[in-house]
Amino acid sequence: MRVISSRAKDGPSAGARPHTVLVAGAAGFIGSHLVDRLLDDGFRVIGVDNFITGRPGNIAHLNREPRFRFIEHDITKPLAIKAKIDWVMHFASPASPPKYLRWPLETLLANSIGTHHLLELTRRNGAQFLLASTSEVYGDALEHPQTERYWGNVNPTGPRSVYDEGKRYSEAMTMSYHREHGLPVRVVRIFNTYGARMDPYDGRVVTNFVRQALTDEPLTVYGDGTQTRSLQHVSDLVEGIARLMQIDYPHPLNLGNPEEYSVLDIAKMVLKQLRSASSIVFEPLPTDDPTRRRPDIRKAQELLDWKPRVHAADGIADVAASLATVLAGKSRRKGGATAGARAPNRS
Ligand code: NAD
Ligand code: UDP
Repeated sequence: MRVISSRAKDGPSAGARPHTVLVAGAAGFIGSHLVDRLLDDGFRVIGVDNFITGRPGNIAHLNREPRFRFIEHDITKPLAIKAKIDWVMHFASPASPPKYLRWPLETLLANSIGTHHLLELTRRNGAQFLLASTSEVYGDALEHPQTERYWGNVNPTGPRSVYDEGKRYSEAMTMSYHREHGLPVRVVRIFNTYGARMDPYDGRVVTNFVRQALTDEPLTVYGDGTQTRSLQHVSDLVEGIARLMQIDYPHPLNLGNPEEYSVLDIAKMVLKQLRSASSIVFEPLPTDDPTRRRPDIRKAQELLDWKPRVHAADGIADVAASLATVLAGKSRRKGGATAGARAPNRS
């Protein structure tokens, strides 16, 4: 049961104009789940996306939703919206390492010029701004677990810098708008998040392992698999964001699941959960791959009365169901609809 509802303070109330949220990156994995939650909570939503990594199938179920409007647009170009906007949420950036390495300049521009355009849109509307930042701002962290006070250990010119430094720039610009213009902002540092609607071929660890297990291919562990990640189900992230909208907290906030697994353990967990007989093969570790990652979420717990509830083993079943649908659709017609979100078993 939700302790805090988005209707409680800032959401629409009976008789009032429903508040309008612009979600940039609405056709992406997280963006589409956020749109669903905002609509559930009574908001009007304007989705913006250029489909560089997102998919129309992620928002196809909203075709007949009167409170949802979609604009195909690249946020690196200025955005003119006639409707009054109350919130701008910036989720528009490639997020998977193979994707941002494939689109390095687009990633830098979405997180620099794109962020600037969205902040200006927010300022002109007297609206509030929420930035989807990332644990990657901590880089190959030398402190463990990572608190919001840690400044990070980022290679500023390596291949991953397009994403890491792009997000650090995005945070810097967001905080500058807050200081210079008094803009109400939220900055969410999202740790590895997974769930239904992920692109089976996005190259991230959960999608790769689940897809490989479903198709009886070997699971590709990079390096020796001792590097760690903490996996957060998208339903927990969206709950945290909905709660953050209710409080005035303009500083970076970690949202992630502190359960930490080695990549090799994630591979074994996927094999066990999916009862797969696939083998594990070891491949070279990508450049600057962070060694350990685990969020310190005490701040979010204290401020939001929030904690992640979905265990990775349950969440993996959720991803498997979604990917199986997409892969079956692809093999039938070389296209694919995506399964909707559901929160798997919670603790
Ligand atoms: P995603 O690739 O599924 O979604 C990103 C969406 O943004 C896509 O639909 C893409 O087409 C769109 N987009 C990218 N550039 C754009 C542009 N210039 N104009 C308009 N639309 C554009 O990735 P995701 O996992 O859903 O990530 C969403 C956001 O959350 C990103 O900002 C990402 O950095 C952040 N994040 C995600 C994770 C995670 O584990 N999934 C972790 C940390 C941060
Ligand atoms: N990884 C892996 N095999 C894969 C995909 C990823 O071993 O097929 C590793 C990757 O090297 C990293 C971790 O899994 O150590 C998480 O990778 P992901 O791309 O999901 O996200 P990151 O946290 O690196 O942004």
